[in-house]
Parts: sequence; C-alpha cells; structure tokens
Amino acid sequence: MKEGVRRTMSQQGTTKQQADDEFVVDTEDCEEREQAYRERGTARPITVVGNPVLHKECQDVTEFDDELAALIDDMFASQRAAEGVGLAANQIGVDRKVFVYDCLDDEGVRHVGVVCNPVLEELPADRRVLDDSNEGCLSVPTAYCELARPDYAVVRGQDAEGNPITVRGTGYFARCLQHETDHLYGYLYIDRLSKRDRKDVLRQMAEGTARYETVPND
Ligand SMILES: [Zn+2]
Repeated sequence: MKEGVRRTMSQQGTTKQQADDEFVVDTEDCEEREQAYRERGTARPITVVGNPVLHKECQDVTEFDDELAALIDDMFASQRAAEGVGLAANQIGVDRKVFVYDCLDDEGVRHVGVVCNPVLEELPADRRVLDDSNEGCLSVPTAYCELARPDYAVVRGQDAEGNPITVRGTGYFARCLQHETDHLYGYLYIDRLSKRDRKDVLRQMAEGTARYETVPND
C-alpha cells in the first residue's frame, strides 16, 4: 500500500479491550529488522492493475523454507524501493499468500512484519468505526482516492516459520492490513470504489508516471 496524501483519521474505536500478549510484537527493533530484510533482498519491479496475477486468489504458503525467506527479503527490498508501507507477493508477480508491512498506526507507532496465509477477522458491530482516509496502491501508481474502511483490523495467519500469529492494527495500519489481505484474494482497493471513483483513479493513473520500476502489461 502507498501512504495517503491526506489523513482524516478517527480516534474512535481504538479502545484496547483485548490483552496485548495475544498479538504478535511487531513494534520492536523495526529499523534493524527492516534493514536486515531489505539488504538481503533485491528490489523487483511492481505489477500494475490489469496484470492477471493481481486479479485472482493467490496460492497458500505451504513450505516455510529458504525460498520463502528469500521472497520475503525481496518483498522488503521492493517495498522500500517503491516507498510503500505494505506489499503483497503478487505485486512482484509471485502467486503466494504472503504480505509484508512497514506502517505507522494511529498513534504514530511503527509496525514491521510479515503475514502468510492471512485471514481477516470479522469485527463485532460495535468495533466497526469507519475511517474515510485516502488510499493508494503501488499497483495503481500515482492515484489516490478516499475509501471508507474500519479503523481497526485483526488478521490471523502464520509467520515466515509457519507459527500461528495474530496481528492487530489501528488507523492507517488497520487500513494496510485490510488492503494487503485483499491483494492476496485478488482484490485491489479500486474494486471497492464506486464506478465513478474507479474511473477517476484510473484517469489519475493514466496521467501520472510511477517513480519506481513497474512490470509492463501486455
Ligand atoms: Zn496495494
């Protein structure tokens, strides 16, 4: 995901009701961890809207091996090169359910991590506070649009070693977790927009030039 130009974040709905210890710790040593991943990896060009790999559900990760670790390194390198705050594997052309993130939450706290086989948890009705911040996507270069999404998200999945993890996000990080999980099921944020907004986003994309390398569509 690309960071929005404007933020109109709600502070509601972020009461911490659940114990912190059931969630993965992704806020410690962020600088060191992110740097280690991306220095081992190689930045790859980013796939853009229209590329078939972005429009179908990715395959589950079943092997938590060196190949997966190398993919994750490349994803962090690619995310940094494109100045993204989240990146799904199909955005570098790989058909696997894994995403990485390096994103700030509603309190400005940085979160860095990896989720394999993510599943978004359904929120109880009283936690569904919508936030209509701007959203952008590295696969829809140079375009942004407001999109209402819950300002709190919980994703269950596995880490790079296959251990079960639960990741919780607020504010922009909640948006990121939802956006990246969507990618791995074949959906872009523009698929959630009205016809008119989608058309406007595609016009913005046609008029702009990405500041990072992209994979040309046939
Ligand atoms: Zn995206």
